[in-house]
Amino acid sequence: MEIINLNDTENKLFYIGGVVRDEILGQKSFDIDLTYVGNAIEFAKTLEGIEILKINEPFGTVRIKANGREVDIASTRKEIYERPGHLPTVTEIGCSLKDDVLRRDFTINALAKNYNTGEIIDYTGGLEDIKSKTLKVLHDNSFVEDPTRIIRALKFAVRFNFSLDEHSKKLRDDYLKNINYDMSFKRVKKELTETFNLNSQRAYDEFIEAGIYKLVTEKEVKKQNINIENLINKYKSLINPSNIWLIYLATIGDLSKLELTKEEKKILDDFESIKNIELNTDFDTYKAFENKHPETILIYGILKDLIPAINYIENLKNIKIEITGEDLQKLGVKPSPKYKECFDKILEAKCYNSNLTKQDEIMIAKEYFDI
Ligand code: ATP
Ligand code: MG
Repeated sequence: MEIINLNDTENKLFYIGGVVRDEILGQKSFDIDLTYVGNAIEFAKTLEGIEILKINEPFGTVRIKANGREVDIASTRKEIYERPGHLPTVTEIGCSLKDDVLRRDFTINALAKNYNTGEIIDYTGGLEDIKSKTLKVLHDNSFVEDPTRIIRALKFAVRFNFSLDEHSKKLRDDYLKNINYDMSFKRVKKELTETFNLNSQRAYDEFIEAGIYKLVTEKEVKKQNINIENLINKYKSLINPSNIWLIYLATIGDLSKLELTKEEKKILDDFESIKNIELNTDFDTYKAFENKHPETILIYGILKDLIPAINYIENLKNIKIEITGEDLQKLGVKPSPKYKECFDKILEAKCYNSNLTKQDEIMIAKEYFDI
């Protein structure tokens, strides 16, 4: 762990959460989270040679820049869930380190490491659980307070190859039988995105088999028989990595609870618009998939029919006609909607024989316009 020159002679500063877990696991951590037993904002103001970037007074957090790195320092805090499923309310800033870690999601995320001495503080058995690759909630009400933890568990399980312990699994299953849909779906979406952008078939299988998908829809969902991870890997270069999650989630059907971006909506709407078109010929396939996001085409492949989807991606997509409007004008044809019909005719011919030359295309145009 990179040590930043912060002066804490009182031993009140701790690395906390994911960063401690990742160091023990030997994994790279992207952000450095610190917690200060007391008021982190006041503490940050006493530090020399650092820059304060952002202060969040109600949460008692501060972002600083030290030695060129951005670091978040939080005040230790207690929280209560006044409205389960929504963000908690801070009830005390500057509580004990123990109280601060007890509000966290899993034991493996509840470890602290003294900034000065490097001593690991483990109030909840997180070290043992890292060894046994176990995800364990800190109390029985954990998933009720914050159901996004169910998806977080899936994310960490896949990322580190861990599993929920039996008791936590039972708590999860109990919650999934009695979901309170009054929750922040913005946070649900964030966790789903992070989980499924890992592109993991295991995440998908568990999502469906354990009924975690029920957080998103009240309808029944059946597992697709196709290996989505392999399919995505095969066409990775075509897909926007931040849309991978949507390919998985599209199999749920109803995503109306999630707030989708314009692009995400278009990917799904385009699938809806083509899913019932009969694709009898390559030209039908070409026209159906033309100008669609590759994500839409893969969703079609998973939910409807893989053969035309792959045929389009591997063969038809590359077919382009060379003839232009200018060429038609040179042939003496006046611009009109007939141009498009003619181009479609040529395209259709090219779908059957991609070796047609521009000369061949002109021949077809002449025939079409009876020249
Ligand atoms: P990542 O590597 O994905 O960032 P992380 O463990 O650092 O993993 P964050 O979402 O950055 O996860 O959160 C930082 C810490 O805050 C977690 O380690 C955990 O202690 C706590 N935390 C985050 N989300 C929750 C939650 N929903 N409920 C309880 N504690 C949480
Ligand atoms: Mg983090």
